[in-house]
Amino acid sequence: MTGPVASLYIHVPFCARKCSYCAFYSEAADASLMDRYVRALLRELERVAPDLRPQTIFFGGGTPTLLTLRHWEQIFRAMERLNLLGAAEFTVEANPATLSADKARLLRAHGVNRISLGVQTLDPALLDRLGRIHTPEQVFRSYDLLRRAGFDNVNLDLMFGIPGQTMSSWKGTLREALALQSEHLSCYEVIYEEDTPLFAQLQAGAFAVDEDLICAQYDRLLERTADAGFHQYEVANFARNHRGSAGCAGPLSTEFPAYACRHNINYWRGGDFYGLGPSAVSYVRGVRTRNLAHTPAWCEALEQGGRALAWREALPPLARAGETAAFGLRVVAGWPYAEFRSRTGYDLREEWAAELEELERRGWGVREPDRFRLTPTGLRFADAAAEMMLRPAADASPGASEPAPFWAAAP
Ligand code: SF4
Repeated sequence: MTGPVASLYIHVPFCARKCSYCAFYSEAADASLMDRYVRALLRELERVAPDLRPQTIFFGGGTPTLLTLRHWEQIFRAMERLNLLGAAEFTVEANPATLSADKARLLRAHGVNRISLGVQTLDPALLDRLGRIHTPEQVFRSYDLLRRAGFDNVNLDLMFGIPGQTMSSWKGTLREALALQSEHLSCYEVIYEEDTPLFAQLQAGAFAVDEDLICAQYDRLLERTADAGFHQYEVANFARNHRGSAGCAGPLSTEFPAYACRHNINYWRGGDFYGLGPSAVSYVRGVRTRNLAHTPAWCEALEQGGRALAWREALPPLARAGETAAFGLRVVAGWPYAEFRSRTGYDLREEWAAELEELERRGWGVREPDRFRLTPTGLRFADAAAEMMLRPAADASPGASEPAPFWAAAP
């Protein structure tokens, strides 16, 4: 038995409107369902609190900033009572159209010290195309408001490869976003998830994907972020070591810049975490569970004193280590062999010898004395490289990997 879990994710499943590319679980904001959600969330928090000592907390969604001041006060009161405040890093995702000065101040006053602002693009036509509810002006206003409320660690989420996004539009977004001088940038290529309007448009031939343009946009991203003083520490994530002229404590470690997202580092390095809220996934002591992806059903299960699980799975150790190896390859610093062994019990160089050799042969990876890491070329193929590291659960221990229905779940 290890100590309490140090990482907490809370899913807030409400959005003002569904974006055209989004496959996350969320639904229309409805006042009475939101009240019910908050009450159920407090029950779920109480359930896991004895096994939690959070060093990182992340409220994602959905749109957490759709919760009202009263909702946030209820949540913070419960977290205080349960001794869950005081995390080193406490992030809340914010939509620029849903922030107010009062909300920003309330979050800051209760220990939220990092905001992740969903910008995506600063091109008004593309914001419209994506179905975003905010304007570029609201991004600038929200950013100022956050700074005035005392937030000195802000992430901007951007997207490239958006249908209709020219190189000149992408350069404009990058220029304006970098001029804001945030501490962190997350920049993702658009993914076409099934069951989204954007996927349907692609299938219907409404537009074509221009891979060359997307590669050129990624190149531009790497150049401009490096020029602006960001350090790429993961395929899609960039952070500063110092903030403006004020400076700060310097790198988080030899592997990560000061403003790297600690919460995500825990995911990539295979750490445990609790996920609360509808559809949220937890990974605790080798067992992965997923909550019901239906807000009323999730509320009802908790109201009746049960757990709101859709399924649970306990992967055999080798399959689990394979996933850990795969996730960790996304990190620019790669996998230190010693850390991988202490996390998983396996030696990366022995168990994955053939894969490491193949990755090196392709020019995607490099075996250094103390670690394996992807090269800049390999980082572009991180998903394919990650897939090579996976070990089918059935091979490792037949039948052990199928998600169990929630009624068969352990307590
Ligand atoms: S605001 Fe975020 S979670 Fe909501 S629909 Fe848009 S992308 Fe999805």
